[in-house]
This record gives sequence, structure tokens and C-alpha cells, in this order.
Amino acid sequence: MFKTIIEPFKIKSVEPIYMTTEEQRKKLIKEAHYNPFLLHSRDVIIDMLTDSGTSAMSSQQWAGIMQGDESYAGASSFLKLEKEIQDLTGYPHVLPTHQGRAAERILYSYLGGKGKIFISNTHFDTTRANIEFSGAEAIDIPTPAAKDHDSEFHFKGNIDLEKLEEYLKTSAKQIGAVIQTVTNNSGGGQPVSMENTKQASALCKKYGVLFVIDCCRIAENSYFIRHYEKGYENYSYRDIAKEMFSLADGGVMSAKKDALVNIGGFLALKDQVLAEACTNLLIITEGFVTYGGLAGRDMEAMAIGLREVFEDDYLTYRITSTKYLGEHIRKAGIPVIYPIGGHAVYVDAGLMYPHIPANQYPGQTLVCELYKVGGIRAVEIGSVMFGKYDEKGELIPAPVELVRLAIPRRVYTQSHIDYVIEVFEHLKDNVKSAKGMKIVKEPKFLRHFTAHFEEVS
Ligand SMILES: *Cc1c(COP(=O)(O)O)cnc(C)c1O
Repeated sequence: MFKTIIEPFKIKSVEPIYMTTEEQRKKLIKEAHYNPFLLHSRDVIIDMLTDSGTSAMSSQQWAGIMQGDESYAGASSFLKLEKEIQDLTGYPHVLPTHQGRAAERILYSYLGGKGKIFISNTHFDTTRANIEFSGAEAIDIPTPAAKDHDSEFHFKGNIDLEKLEEYLKTSAKQIGAVIQTVTNNSGGGQPVSMENTKQASALCKKYGVLFVIDCCRIAENSYFIRHYEKGYENYSYRDIAKEMFSLADGGVMSAKKDALVNIGGFLALKDQVLAEACTNLLIITEGFVTYGGLAGRDMEAMAIGLREVFEDDYLTYRITSTKYLGEHIRKAGIPVIYPIGGHAVYVDAGLMYPHIPANQYPGQTLVCELYKVGGIRAVEIGSVMFGKYDEKGELIPAPVELVRLAIPRRVYTQSHIDYVIEVFEHLKDNVKSAKGMKIVKEPKFLRHFTAHFEEVS
């Protein structure tokens, strides 16, 4: 009945935001070589760089921190976490890790190697990097519906089942695993349907291939299933997640997302033989089986966060506030990937700044404008992040010049979001005066983190 989104929490502890003027920010972004990764967080008003590890913990989680059992072996905090993950996933074997990529390294270095291939709706960049580092190949097969940024279809995170079957038919023996990333982070934070996952699971079973869920945002995904997929209207979010886990052989999680903690991850597996092999790697590289790379207190907070994240009021607030930002800037004429996903809003900066060509990085222009005008930090995920050079040194641009506005969990209120919307309205009115960017210094790998830019005059 009412339009205002009420955050389903009260604030007990606060952290200051330091205000700056546009004049100051123009100087600060210049000193940071027009790369927001090089800004000090203290100089940022609203930080939408990532939703990873930036969640606000609850008073229950902070209380749990004090209860952390720091014993080397058999810590009660581990036993609590193990029980929580077993109950959620249905998988008996739980390996704690310091974050998601450590779980990925363990699983994919064991399953991977030269000649192996991995298939996914879309591999997240750390997933791809761990697979490729093992010598294997990572192949993305998102549903063709993902390409249409304006259609109302809700499950653009799906995997392309036809292509999946082709790969399974021709190369099942080579396939290390099929990975369903839920929600599809690199694809636009778009959800994956239960039906799509059921069919992918059935195909993997038929061809005897391991099926893994990258479950970083499975609670957010459950929200979309309950509200947009037939037959799940009366399920609890947790039961939807449980059903999805039941379709797979294992799960890899970065707890820095939907476990509402600042650090942590896990690998959970059905198969004992695979779990034993992975446990050996865990002990060599992360730590003993009952702590992985974590402190007891981290595991305690994770166990509590994994339960809180499925609460109805929390997920309603989470998804509707992301949607609120997306819908409002879309209404203001900003081109966004639609429908809005779970954890972030993705702006098409190439469309927003049609006068700036790909080789002048319109996404980088937008992240700099957001900072100068509003002190907002976002991340470019276009040709700065994914562009390559041909033999002549010409840029091969990314398919789309996107900017991601990721929303930290339980951190910002509606007034913060309203402020971001106002900044976008201002940018929309000043599109023509925005200038392209050029790279003046860049490292060989992962250049987006440290590259230096200048404005094209
Ligand atoms: C963040 C993320 C990872 C990697 O997790 P880290 O905790 O950052 O190491 C893997 N997959 C997806 C989908 C992610 O979003």
C-alpha cells in the first residue's frame, strides 16, 4: 500500500561519511589518475564499488564474534557453521575457506588441468582465473535471452540448455564440471530459474558430469524464484535454496556476499572421495579442516548470517531497494540492464554517452563523473576491464560499456539511494559536456585496478 521502503533494521552503531565539495573531488579524482580504485575510501560519500565483504553485520553476528571458539581443532564455531551449511545444502562435507576463490582454487585445481573444460552460465572472473590457471578452459554459455537488455524476461541468468547438451554429447569426458552461477554476477546480477537448473542438472546426470552451484547470491536468487517462477509462490526462500542445492553435487560460496560477513567462504560437497581429495588441498593451503582460512569468530558470524539472509523482510528490502534505484534512474532516461538484478544496477555507459567512442572508455567517463558530481564510487566493467589489443595495438572493445553500481547489504538507507538517483538526474542533464578518457599508464594484467587515465580534451 505504501511506497516507502522501510529498512527492516534499526541502527545501533554508526560510521561517519565525510562530506566533500565538488571542487575537492575534482582535485581528488585527478590525483587518483581518474581511477576510482585509487581513491581513499574516506573521500567517498556513497561507495558502490562492490557488494563483496561490505555488508553490515547484525547485533546477533557481533555478539557471535565474541562467542568465537578459537581452538585449532574441533572448534564449536566450526561445528555450528558445519551444521548450518549441511542443513541448508544437504551436502555432508563442509570445507571452510578464507573466501570464495580459495574454495574455487581447491575444487577446480583438483578437477581441472590441461585438456579439461568447464561450462557455466557465466564464470565469475575469479572462477575463470582459477580454471585457466590449472590449464583448463572455461566456456560461458548464457541463455540467448541475456543479450536483450530491455525484454521483461526475468531469468536472464539462465544457462543455454541446447548448447550445454551439445557440449555434454560431444565432450562429456573432458568436462571437469558444469557450474551454475546463482545469481549470474558477471551477466548483470540476473537470476537463474529453478526449471533451468533442474534441466541442467538432469543433463549432467545423464552424461555423468559433476554439477556445481556457485551460490554466492542464492538467497537473492530465491527471492526472484518465489516472485517470478510459477509454483514457488508459497515456498520459503530457504526452502527454494534447499531445492536448488538438491539438484547439484556441490556448492562453492563467497560468504562475503549472501552470508552477510566481511570475510569467509566454503566448499560443500556430496561425494566423499572428492571431499577427501579437496580436504588434502585445504590442509596444505588454507588450514586445518575445522577452520580453513578463518578465525572461529568469522565462522560464528557466517553461521548466523546464513540464516538471517533468508528472512522475508530482509530479502524484500534488499531486492526492492536495488530495484528502486534501477527503476528510478531508468525513468530518468539512464539506460540500464533490465529487469534489475539482485545486488547491483548495471548502466550502459556506451548508450548514455553516444558521443564517446569505445576507445575513449565511456564507462570510465561515467565513473569519474559520478565521483566528481556526487562523491559516488562505482566500477567500470566495459572496455577498461575486458578490452584487449590486437597485433597493431588497436583496442578490441568489450561487447558493452557497462558501469556497475553494487549495493552493500544493510549499509545504505533510502535517502542515500535517493541521493544517487538525484546525481544521475544531474548527469543526464549534462551528458554532452562529458569528456572521453585515455589510458596513460597500464599494467599487463587486470589493468582496471591500477591504470592511470587522463581526460581527452
Ligand atoms: C565474489 C565471487 C566469487 C569469488 O569470491 P571471493 O570471496 O571474492 O574470493 C566467486 N563467484 C562469484 C559469483 C562471486 O560473486
